[in-house]
Amino acid sequence: MKQSLNTPRSIAFRLLPSLAQFLPLNGMIRITGKRIIFPFYHLVSDEDIPHVKHLYSVRTTKEFIHDLDFFLKHYNPIGITDFLDSVKSARPLPGNSFILSFDDGLREFHDVAAPILRQKGIPAICFLNSGFIDNTNLFYRYKASLLIERLQKGNDLADKQKSLGKWFGKNHLPFTPDYHGLLGISYADKHLLDELALQLDVHFDEFLQNHRPYLNSYQVRSLIQQGFTFGAHSIDHPEYRFLAEEEQIRQTAESIQVISEKYGVKEKLFSFPFTDHGVKKSFFDAVFDPLRPIADLTFGGAGLKQDFIPGNIQRIPFEGSSLNAKQILGTEYLYYMIKSIFGKNMIMR
Ligand SMILES: [Zn+2]
Repeated sequence: MKQSLNTPRSIAFRLLPSLAQFLPLNGMIRITGKRIIFPFYHLVSDEDIPHVKHLYSVRTTKEFIHDLDFFLKHYNPIGITDFLDSVKSARPLPGNSFILSFDDGLREFHDVAAPILRQKGIPAICFLNSGFIDNTNLFYRYKASLLIERLQKGNDLADKQKSLGKWFGKNHLPFTPDYHGLLGISYADKHLLDELALQLDVHFDEFLQNHRPYLNSYQVRSLIQQGFTFGAHSIDHPEYRFLAEEEQIRQTAESIQVISEKYGVKEKLFSFPFTDHGVKKSFFDAVFDPLRPIADLTFGGAGLKQDFIPGNIQRIPFEGSSLNAKQILGTEYLYYMIKSIFGKNMIMR
């Protein structure tokens, strides 16, 4: 989830924010015609979240409220049904709009974000991994973060350093004092994290039971009653570009079906785990097959961009950096305008 240091986008996000924050947002909205935005988050928390802290930084409640107030100043909060209705009827939405969403189905959506959103009258979509609901299993990246936390705080592990170094070496992972080599473990090699947990006496099942990182079904149903919408985020959060297309489709269809059957959710919404980068047109042809549609809409997280696939919507990430909402959004619009000059705003498939 961390952006690599030298992509054009990451360079833009280093160079442009200081300029972008002084440009009038309404002018940039008018010039680009991008009147609807889709900001997204994972969680909001004022506490230390051990399973996330080594992956990306999150918004505090104060920062989150600040973001929301900024959105509300320039855009109307709308629900996904308003958006779907406007697409189906080809009637544009009045004014500027934003649709908020949260990935990974974490408990903090219920405990922290939802009460704030209700108070402000802002709808939101929450995307769940069907294999993790009710704390039945843990995302492998969260396992990596927990293991890094254990290693960094492990004063009792001095005599294990030699065997740990060997284990990292054997698995071709850099053995550095911050142990961030574990972040290089991919979905295909995720069993390595369970192997290391065994050596370090870390018990993920106990963590799931005691900490309860994910929403449970009771909370999901209660949030639906409060007016929030739910979508799917794959079964167990793989990197789609490394999967065979058949498996991409299975992960998508099955997770959407579980959410729909378990909670009676009518809209078939799906957000890609990690990124939709490298997902081909043939996948979308299957997912949006007009005779047997698997999804109504799918969502990526590439920022303010158009997608060659009309039903695939690109969202803007608002966490993982110390920039405020005004700087992030200003940079997105400015970067969009610069890329327009070179015709580079469309993600081709
Ligand atoms: Zn995710």
